[in-house]
Amino acid sequence: MRKPALLKDLFAAAAQLLYKKPVNCPATDPGIMNETARITSPHIAEEDVALQTLRPLSFVDFTGQAQACANLRVFVEAARARSEPLDHALLFGPPGLGKTTLAQIIAREMGVGFRATSGPILTKAGDLAAILTNLQKGDVLFIDEIHRLSSAVEEVLYPAMEDFKLDLIIGEGPAARTIRIDVPPFTLVGATTRLGLISNPLRDRFGIPLRLQFYDVGELQRVIERAADILNIAIGKEGSLEIAKRSRGTPRIAVRLLRRVRDFAQAAGKDGIDRALADASLKRLEVDLLGLDSSDHRYLRFIAEHYDGGPVGVETIAAGLSEQRDAIEETVEPYLMQCGFVQRTPRGRLLTPKAFAHLGLKAPRKAAEQIDMLDVDTENTE
Ligand code: ADP
Repeated sequence: MRKPALLKDLFAAAAQLLYKKPVNCPATDPGIMNETARITSPHIAEEDVALQTLRPLSFVDFTGQAQACANLRVFVEAARARSEPLDHALLFGPPGLGKTTLAQIIAREMGVGFRATSGPILTKAGDLAAILTNLQKGDVLFIDEIHRLSSAVEEVLYPAMEDFKLDLIIGEGPAARTIRIDVPPFTLVGATTRLGLISNPLRDRFGIPLRLQFYDVGELQRVIERAADILNIAIGKEGSLEIAKRSRGTPRIAVRLLRRVRDFAQAAGKDGIDRALADASLKRLEVDLLGLDSSDHRYLRFIAEHYDGGPVGVETIAAGLSEQRDAIEETVEPYLMQCGFVQRTPRGRLLTPKAFAHLGLKAPRKAAEQIDMLDVDTENTE
């Protein structure tokens, strides 16, 4: 069967020439404009890219997500014992919780190569075809923000995921014909912050769906102490606890806050970080005791002061704050819901009495009553 192999090679070469796009591209989201300015943004910043050394490289180094990791370890070990690629895995949860890190760990533990790309940069079917035809047997292909794949690219993905085949259309008009070529067996690891935006056919093709949860304070403390160790920063237990409490349950934020507090320590001529220094530094960064920053306060105050605590629709909030709806839904609300400050109801967002207390405002009586009356949507991350 020389011919298909030759065709495949030719196609791969042509596709690479035609679609010269970066494949190993960081997951910055062009749709979320103000995010890079936030110290508590869970999205990746340029500075984070330079700090690849902090990424845990094995399940042993990976803190937290105990349930997801324990299951994943079993699946990895079983697949390795059978000398088969791991089934396709879908990791979902808010940004900065370790989806990319886990995908890299999967590849490492399986002893295979790792290729990374992201939904928004795969604009044409040929982009994906070029990547798939260049994979080695067993490789992990990581697609970040998989909910942003175009339907044309998704169509190419289905047979590739199911049968490791690629259907390609060669030529145009009446001369067009379809050829089917093999791609090496591979594992697709998809990551998304918006599970609800993934089409059902795509979702159904993942054999291993894993939801990542926000980290608790103890877990974040361990993440901070491990990072401090690698970066050679002296930090006491109380210092790491103070940063952990204000890191919004997110390791990426914890590590970023640690680095900023280190800057303050250096400027103050201190050798190490204690609780007082961490507290003073985080106050200067406008990160409050629960890790809420000025964007969160604006969001909460908008609903409290203009809509009496809600319910108010997310579109109205986005317009009122001149923010993008996506940014609000992906990075502001999940943590506020986790804190029990906001509830999603069929009639819009509703502040809880706890949120009023945190803002130092008196809750209108209706806030408590409405929470009992309204049918609350408990889905946090979609
Ligand atoms: P996501 O892909 O979910 O946005 P990443 O995998 O890029 O998140 O993780 C962000 C950063 O947080 C990583 O660079 C790593 O330093 C840190 N990190 C994430 N999860 C953990 C963990 N479980 N233990 C230690 N550090 C972690």
